[in-house]
Amino acid sequence: MSNVSPHDTRSIIDLLRGVQDFNIRVFPEKQDLFSDLASGQSPHTLFITCADSRVSPEMITQQQPGAMFVLRNIGNIVPAYGEMLGGVSAAIEYAVLALDVRHIIVCGHSDCGAMKALLDPEAHGLDGMPTVASWLRNAETARAVTAAIHPEARGAQAVAALSEQNVLLQLDHLRTHPSVAARIAEGRLLLQGWLYDIATGRIGVFDSQTRSVQTVDAVLDTLRDRDIP
Ligand code: ZN
Repeated sequence: MSNVSPHDTRSIIDLLRGVQDFNIRVFPEKQDLFSDLASGQSPHTLFITCADSRVSPEMITQQQPGAMFVLRNIGNIVPAYGEMLGGVSAAIEYAVLALDVRHIIVCGHSDCGAMKALLDPEAHGLDGMPTVASWLRNAETARAVTAAIHPEARGAQAVAALSEQNVLLQLDHLRTHPSVAARIAEGRLLLQGWLYDIATGRIGVFDSQTRSVQTVDAVLDTLRDRDIP
């Protein structure tokens, strides 16, 4: 530990104290839940979001452990099927076919570093990060669409517009995965696109028909009218 700076030590102490707090205070309160989860999982949702440290899927949806199978990467990206058969494709196939999730959420967020890097690769040092640059090519179509429909957008406005297009593009990519396409055809799987605003905590939900963004309240009203007698 001789090369560890005091700042690094503070971070690891903070993490370990968090584990202590979890073990002593939180875990006993949820003993029954963890006993149930000890022998298997049955999540209802595959939640795909950015690896950004400010996005906390369970916190923003107030879900307990076991409810969501979470898949995170830079830019909440889903490569189209066959493009890159790696961890993302495997996780999707497993969640859909083995875990039988009923929903897939693709959740983008405000101030996304991946979107900023797509808009200005040089300023964000993509030249020196070939792996990141290669990964972000899976969102290049969203950048092209954003430039076409919002040519005047700059700064935060451009990042927000690109984040929207990126969520829509990744939903399109999801539908190219055989397991996803088959379950949608059977009416057993719903896809939804979300945008999380870090500054306000608000989430916008894409309407599946119009592809416009709606509030959570509006979507809940629609679902109530449709599904609950
Ligand atoms: Zn991000």
